[in-house]
Amino acid sequence: MGIDYRVCPNCRETYPDCGPTKICGGCEEVFCGYCDADVTGEIDEETGMRPEDGTCPVCRYDVVSDGDLLAWIIKEYSLGNKKGLAKEYKKAMEERQNV
Ligand SMILES: [Zn+2]
Ligand SMILES: [Zn+2]
Repeated sequence: MGIDYRVCPNCRETYPDCGPTKICGGCEEVFCGYCDADVTGEIDEETGMRPEDGTCPVCRYDVVSDGDLLAWIIKEYSLGNKKGLAKEYKKAMEERQNV
C-alpha cells in the first residue's frame, strides 16, 4: 500500500494520509493533525461515530480553497457583470502590454 498525500485546507501544508488527521463531523473535511485547525465534533476514527454538530474552518467559511473562490467569483460576475468584467480584462491586458 502506498502513502497518499493530502493538502490540509487549513494550513495548506501537504501531509501523509497515514499521519494524524482531524475529520470534521459536519462536512467530513479532513485536516492534518499538525496545525491548529479548529475542528469541533471530530469523527472518531475507531468507532466511526459522527457527532451531529461538528464544525470546522471550512464549514464556517474561515478558509476557502482557490478553486472554490474562483468558481464563486466567476458565478457572481457572470450573473451580474460579465460584460463589465470582460472590459476590465481587456483594459488590464492592454495596460500590461504597454508597460
Ligand atoms: Zn493543517
Ligand atoms: Zn466542516
